[in-house]
Amino acid sequence: MIPAALVLLSFLRMDVRTGRVLERQWQDDRPIHPGSLAKPFIALAYAQSHQFRFPEITCTRCWLPRGHGRTGLRDAIAQSCNTYFDTLRAALGPGELDAVARRFGLRSVDEARPEELLRAYIELSRRAAEPGVNVILEGMRLAAKSGTAKRLAHDALAKTGTAPCTHIPKSPGDGFVVVLYPAVQPRVALLARLHGRPGSHAAAEAARLLQ
Ligand SMILES: [Zn+2]
Repeated sequence: MIPAALVLLSFLRMDVRTGRVLERQWQDDRPIHPGSLAKPFIALAYAQSHQFRFPEITCTRCWLPRGHGRTGLRDAIAQSCNTYFDTLRAALGPGELDAVARRFGLRSVDEARPEELLRAYIELSRRAAEPGVNVILEGMRLAAKSGTAKRLAHDALAKTGTAPCTHIPKSPGDGFVVVLYPAVQPRVALLARLHGRPGSHAAAEAARLLQ
């Protein structure tokens, strides 16, 4: 049972150019576990120590039971392939991921406050010209077009995630989505969290918030 007072949808909307918070409906400022929302930063940490080349990896088992098959970075971001990013993360040296996280204003990719996390994505979009970043953003555009965030139904940059619920009572997991809209020269950044539903459902809610 969910108490009536519990808001099922939390969101944070920011102006990409000024970095100002435009709207905030988020009950608490507790750190969240970014989960799959950390994947772009894992990719960047890997790129920096591997000549900015991303591997192709065969995923045979994932959150999608049959796996994602042969996957490069762009599709791995779009489909949020766990096998792909577990492999990349395992190839990182000590401190490499933390260094990238800090450069984007995050204390850690495993724990961040909602606002810090959204700011990190804004920063990522601003660095499109830096090596390794553009292909990550292409993956996010593909996520919104045909990947895990397709229910967004907007030409945007997006990344979904599912993370442990911090509400009381707990759900098995909360869905998250980060959206930068429009895809080219984004103006609006949005982080949405939907209690007890997967990230793909959070994307559908985010679509309404973009209207
Ligand atoms: Zn996979």
